[in-house]
Amino acid sequence: MNPESSPAGGRPDVIVVGGGIGGLSAAFALARQGLRVRVLERAKEFGEVGAGLQIAPNCTRILAEYGLLEEARTLGVVPENMVMRDALDARELTRLDLRDLERRYGFPYMVIHRSDLHGIFLRACERAGVELLTDRTVVDYEHTDGGARVRLEDGSTEEAPLVVAADGLHSVARRTLVGDDVVSSDYVAYRAAVPIERVRDNGIAEKDVTVYVGPRCHFVQYALRGGDMFNQVAVFQSPKALAGRDDWGTPDELDAAFGATCDTVRKGIPLMWRDRWWQMLDRDPVETWVHGRIALLGDAAHPPLQYMAQGAIMAIEDGWVLARHHALRAGAAPAGGRPDWDAVLTAYEAVRVEHCRRVQTTARAWGELWHLDGEPRLRRNAIMRARDTYDYSFTDWVYGPTALTPDEEPPMFTPIPLSSADIGEQEAEPETEPEAGALAGGHPR
Ligand SMILES: Cc1cc2nc3c(=O)[nH]c(=O)nc-3n(C[C@H](O)[C@H](O)[C@H](O)COP(=O)(O)OP(=O)(O)OC[C@H]3O[C@@H](n4cnc5c(N)ncnc54)[C@H](O)[C@@H]3O)c2cc1C
Repeated sequence: MNPESSPAGGRPDVIVVGGGIGGLSAAFALARQGLRVRVLERAKEFGEVGAGLQIAPNCTRILAEYGLLEEARTLGVVPENMVMRDALDARELTRLDLRDLERRYGFPYMVIHRSDLHGIFLRACERAGVELLTDRTVVDYEHTDGGARVRLEDGSTEEAPLVVAADGLHSVARRTLVGDDVVSSDYVAYRAAVPIERVRDNGIAEKDVTVYVGPRCHFVQYALRGGDMFNQVAVFQSPKALAGRDDWGTPDELDAAFGATCDTVRKGIPLMWRDRWWQMLDRDPVETWVHGRIALLGDAAHPPLQYMAQGAIMAIEDGWVLARHHALRAGAAPAGGRPDWDAVLTAYEAVRVEHCRRVQTTARAWGELWHLDGEPRLRRNAIMRARDTYDYSFTDWVYGPTALTPDEEPPMFTPIPLSSADIGEQEAEPETEPEAGALAGGHPR
């Protein structure tokens, strides 16, 4: 810890703006290094809205290092398989054997309620002595000599040698420092987590993560909280969004979007929460996340479409990488000296920007692949059915150990062009043909 730090209420070593999963996990990672960390959260209480989160081995590996994996196992579920099915006819397209996947990567693929994962990090922060402040809305950022300053809504300011902006998709820091806009995909997500008894007669697979992919829509199901709850996510393209209307993604559109899907999916739709929905937005990747001593992290830096189920994971990886680079340089600092934050931030940006760019762009391509119609849908299905369950060439680049340096970043997979698929005698359906482009073949996430 910086010996010049003052006690609680004084100047911290690091200010983290935003107490979501990204902000809290970064705060914990840095506090483990002995740094004095203060989190400024806009909401009146720390919490998470929504239902389930999938956390792949590149996340559970970090939870294990933090000593938090067993708590996550207790609160979550380790499913047996991830199965992708066609949403129209329910036929299986491809699967991952998650037990074998755990053997390959050394850590489990889990699902967990997002408020449970957030709670794990909140309690870990409390134990590590992170100063957790709510009702603090940051409205502006400034550079200072040797650090950065944040201005709060009430006019007060706080400063530190490092400010981590983890303020989410609509980040004030991103607006101030980068100035780009969010990108709408015209898709919207509905969520629901219900007692498992309510879905037992719906043809569900309690021990699997199941993803039904269909024309302009998909539907995800898995059990949560030790199997007592069942999580569902329904995602579809909004005709109102395509028509340029502002009020898009409303419940009437939900019912219409899944009208032609298989029994299990249609039985799930009436259970979706209808008082809240999530318009699916992301941003184009940017190459600069570090501005002086202000570093973007999590969705503020790289908000993805959720099709890779890596958004929260990337945020957790960001904090881990930042803290590891601090640790690597802390030993080199003269006794009682300040950490070389500029070197830490350069190393952070050097490795994370490219990894997250890959995930963001793959997520967009993956979404296009899931939502195909007509002949492209048949070609996709043929490619997926041909995949060997134990072929990991599409997961190694993302589920392996998080890279600390660019040379540790594994190579990407090679996309399989849709045109290479043999659909034999199958009749192309006379529906619309979205642009297929050069899409990635792969497995469900
Ligand atoms: C339908 C759906 C399914 C998903 N599924 C998965 C999945 O399975 N696996 C996965 O890894 N990811 C998934 N994601 C993505 C994941 O939810 C996000 O990437 C992740 O939660 C981002 O975390 P964050 O902390 O960066 O941002 P956020 O969770 O948005 O947190 C930002 C925090 O900052 C606070 N804040 C905002 N502005 C200010 C301000 N000005 N001052 C102070 N505080 C502020 C907010 O109140 C909030 O607490 C999914 C997303 C969606 C929409």
